[in-house]
Amino acid sequence: MTSPVWHPFTQHGLGEPIPMVASAAGAVLTTVDGRAVVDAISSWWVTTHGHNHPRIAAAIADQAGRLDQIIFAGWTHQPAEEVAAELVRITPPALTRVFYSDSGSTAVEVALKMALGYWLNRGDPRHRILVLEHSYHGDTIGAMSVGARGVFNRPYAPLLFDVGTIPYPTDVQATLDALEAACRAGAAAFIVEPLVLGAGGMLFYAPETLSEMRAICARHGVLFIADEVMTGWGRTGTLLACEQAGVVPDILCLSKGLTGGAVPLAVTLSTEAIFQAHWSETDRARQFFHSSSYTANPIACAAAAANLAIWREEPVGQRIDTLAERQRAHLAAIAGRAAVRNPRTLGTIAAFELGAGQDYLSDLGPRLQAHFRERDLLVRPLGNTIYVMPPYAITPEELARVWDGIGEAIDRFGR
Ligand SMILES: *Cc1c(COP(=O)(O)O)cnc(C)c1O
Repeated sequence: MTSPVWHPFTQHGLGEPIPMVASAAGAVLTTVDGRAVVDAISSWWVTTHGHNHPRIAAAIADQAGRLDQIIFAGWTHQPAEEVAAELVRITPPALTRVFYSDSGSTAVEVALKMALGYWLNRGDPRHRILVLEHSYHGDTIGAMSVGARGVFNRPYAPLLFDVGTIPYPTDVQATLDALEAACRAGAAAFIVEPLVLGAGGMLFYAPETLSEMRAICARHGVLFIADEVMTGWGRTGTLLACEQAGVVPDILCLSKGLTGGAVPLAVTLSTEAIFQAHWSETDRARQFFHSSSYTANPIACAAAAANLAIWREEPVGQRIDTLAERQRAHLAAIAGRAAVRNPRTLGTIAAFELGAGQDYLSDLGPRLQAHFRERDLLVRPLGNTIYVMPPYAITPEELARVWDGIGEAIDRFGR
C-alpha cells in the first residue's frame, strides 16, 4: 500500500524515493535500512548544535513529565518566563517584550499584526508593508504576501495583499533611494532578512547596506522588522546577523534554532513603544489579538531554555568559528572551477551556483538531489544553487564527505 502522507514541497508524481529516518545524532541521520546520511542542511536550517543534543533531549523529557501544556492567555509557567528573560538579556536592550508562537511563519504574522496595531492604536492607521525583492518569510497567506511572488505562491496570488517591493541591493544606491522614497510616501513597516536571503537563493548583501536601510526607516518612523528565523542562532557567524551591522530592529522574529531545532517554537520580540501602544487600563480592544493553541508550550520552552544554557555554557562561538573556517577552505578548493559561479560564504553558510543563472525549477535540481541521495548526503539545492549549512557538531570527516559529493556533482553536471 502506498503511504497516505502528503509531503511538503514534494512532487509525488516524480516517484522520488522518500527515505525513512529512524534516528539521528550530531550531523548524522540513520535510516531504517541502516544507511548513515550526513545532514548538510541542518534538516532545513533548524538543527544548530547537532541532532538530539543530550541537554535538550533531557530537558524535553523532564518537562514532559512535569507540565505538558497550559493555556497562555492569562496563565504563565517557569520555562516561558525563563526563556523570555534570557532572550531580553541577550538581544539589544531596546527589545523588551517577547511574544510566543510556534513557527517562523507565525512569528512573521505576529510581527505584521503588531506593526499594524501599533499604528492604529497611535491614531495614525498605516497598512503598507515594504519588503525586499527575493525575500522569503514563510508559507501562510500573510507571510507569503510579504515574500517574493513566483512559482511557490502563484496559485494563491489573488489572495496576497499588496506590498511595496524594494529592489535587492545589486545596486546599493538604487535600493536605498527606493526605500527612502517608499518610506517618505508612508509605510507601517519594512520587513527584511538580515544579510542573507535564504529561500530566495542564499543571496548575501553587505552589513553596511543593512545598517543604511535601518537608518532610513528610523528617519521616517517606519518600523523595522528583522526576520532572523534562518539567520539567527549563529548561522552567519554571530548570534544574530543584525549584530554585524550594529542594527537594532523594532521587531525581531526568531524560530528554527530557538530550541536548537528539536521542537517547534517561535518568538517575536518588540520594543517597549510597540507594547505600550497595546496597553490600556480601560480599553480591552487595544490588547493584542493573537494566539494559537500551543502558544509558549512548556515542553518547547524547556527545550529553548536548554538551548540558551548551551549557548551560555558551551563553546558554541568557537565551534561556529571553526566550522566557518572549514567551510571557507572547502569552498576555496572548488571556487576556481569553470562551472562554479558566485562562490560565497558567511559564517557557517557556503553557497554557489552550478552553471549560469539561478533558477529554482531548473531540471538540474532533482538530478542534483538524486546525486546527493546516492551518496547518503542530505543536500537540497535551491534549483542550481548548491549550499551547505550544517549543524555545528559536524565532524571534519563528515564535512569532507559532503564537499567530496559536491566536487563529484561539479564533475558530473558542471558545464
Ligand atoms: C524558514 C523561514 C521562515 C518560516 O519559518 P517556518 O517555521 O517554516 O514557518 C520565515 N522566515 C525565514 C527567513 C525563514 O528562513
